[in-house]
Amino acid sequence: MPVQVIHHPSEARQWVKAQRAAGCRVGFVPTMGALHAGHASLIRRAAEECDRAVVSVFVNPTQFGPGEDFERYPRDLPRDTVTASEAGADMIFAPSPAEMYPSGFCSRVEVDRLTEGLCGACRPGHFAGVTTVVMKLFHIIPADVSYFGQKDFQQAMVIRRMVRDLDVDMEIRVCPTVRESDGLAMSSRNAYLSPDERRRALALSRALKAARQLFAEGERDRMVLLKAMRAVVNETAPGAPIDYIEVVSPEELTPADPVTPESVALLAVRIGSTRLIDNMPLGCDTSVG
Ligand code: AMP
Repeated sequence: MPVQVIHHPSEARQWVKAQRAAGCRVGFVPTMGALHAGHASLIRRAAEECDRAVVSVFVNPTQFGPGEDFERYPRDLPRDTVTASEAGADMIFAPSPAEMYPSGFCSRVEVDRLTEGLCGACRPGHFAGVTTVVMKLFHIIPADVSYFGQKDFQQAMVIRRMVRDLDVDMEIRVCPTVRESDGLAMSSRNAYLSPDERRRALALSRALKAARQLFAEGERDRMVLLKAMRAVVNETAPGAPIDYIEVVSPEELTPADPVTPESVALLAVRIGSTRLIDNMPLGCDTSVG
C-alpha cells in the first residue's frame, strides 16, 4: 500500500476509523518531522506491531517559547515522506498550523507536577504545548497504540500520565533512544551543529556513560553522580551552559534517593545556540558509545 499524505484532520480521522472498522490495529508515531533513524525506529516498530502505521508531521508552534527555534526548525515533507514510507508508514498526517489552531482556539491540556522540573523549568509553557497538541492528535488519529522515544524521557512520562489521568483510550509504548555510532543521541536539532559543536555535543552521552559506569561500580550517592557528570560535560564542552543535570525516579521525576537501577540520569546542555537533551536509565546496559 503506497503511503498516503493527508493534510485535513477530518479526512485523517476518517482514514483511521475506516482502518479500524476493517479490523486493522493502528499504530501512531507523532513527530515534528525532519525524520531521522530515531523516528524511523518508532515507525518500524509501529509497522511491525500493528496492521497500519500512521506518522504525524507537525512543527507545533505552541511548544516553542519566545526566542526558541520554531522558525528555523528543519521542514522537508517530501523527504520525510520517503523516510516514513521506507520505515513502513501507511499514512502521514501533515496539517497546517491554521488547521490545528483555527481562529478562536483557546483550550489547553496541562499535566502538573511532572512538568515542573527539568525541561519544564527551563522552557515555561513547553509541556502544556506538547500535551495539548498530543491530545488533539490522539483525537484526530484514534489509534490503538502510540509510540514515543525514550530520548524525550520527561515528555514520554508526562504523556503516559496524561493518558492515565484522563482515561484516554490509547496504549503508550516508549522505545529506546537511537544513537550515532559515537554515542550522540539522534535529534533533528543535531543538524544545527557545526563540526566543532558536533564534537562538543558528545559531552552529553559521555556524562551519561560516566554516571552509568559509576553506578555499575556500586556508587549510590546521587550527588557524586551529578558531580561526575558535570565534570565530564565541563571537560568535553568547556564553558557550555548546563540547563540541568539530574538523577530522578522514573515515576515522579523527583531526585532519586536512593539511586536504583530504575533511576534515570538526564541532562540538558547548550552547545552553541543548540539546546541538546539526553538521558539514560542507570541500570540499563544499552551502549552509549
Ligand atoms: P520529535 O520529532 O523530535 O518531536 O520526536 C518525535 C518522536 O521521536 C518523540 O517521541 C521522540 O522521543 C522520538 N525520538 C526523537 N529522537 C529519537 C531518538 N534518537 N531515538 C528514539 N526516538 C527518538
